[in-house]
Amino acid sequence: MRILLVEDEPEMVSALRAALKRHDMVVDHAGSLLEAEGFTADSYDAILLDRQLPDGDGLSLVPKLRSAGNTTPVLMLTARGETSDKVDGLDMGADDYLTKPFAFEELLARLRALLRRPAPMQSQFIRAGDLVLDVGHREASIRGEPLSLPRRELLVLEALMRRTGRMVQRETLMEAVFGLDDEIQSNALDTHVSRLRRKLADAASGVTINGIRGVGYLLRETASA
Ligand code: CA
Repeated sequence: MRILLVEDEPEMVSALRAALKRHDMVVDHAGSLLEAEGFTADSYDAILLDRQLPDGDGLSLVPKLRSAGNTTPVLMLTARGETSDKVDGLDMGADDYLTKPFAFEELLARLRALLRRPAPMQSQFIRAGDLVLDVGHREASIRGEPLSLPRRELLVLEALMRRTGRMVQRETLMEAVFGLDDEIQSNALDTHVSRLRRKLADAASGVTINGIRGVGYLLRETASA
């Protein structure tokens, strides 16, 4: 998971960076609005955004991202506790806020909740082989023909297609498919994958799913004839 941390206080930066790393998150850091604009927000799973930055209100970044079609979840970190400030932030397109000081556990919980939130209805297409996935509308198609899949199979497919050609760890898939709170049958993931694999093969999708027992799965484009 990649996080963009936009924060200017050095102690806060190093504490957050260390804590997020311990939870296997990759952290990039910007210390000002100007620096933050230099990062490609698309490549992050979430943005942690301080409001009081040396060159202005961090919140001003959010409308710019949203108007550019970027939907990366934004969690505001704010020293201001006034309700009006929180409402302003949410109105301007931030997804959630935390008032400093906060417990790291709470930050993590909020991050997880944001990452589980469904993507807004916006078309974003991922392609592999003859398969196209419209992520926003949760629809798969093969050469223009809709491929009807149950929700969990679509989630498996999305997680694999986002990393086509690379092994995706079981834990990553479990989290993508079941979230952190659901009760999970140990073999449920494999069941979803094997159903999905069969449907992809039947539909001559141009992709195959390979697995390594206990490790994960990988979606590959098959060589075209
Ligand atoms: Ca600050």
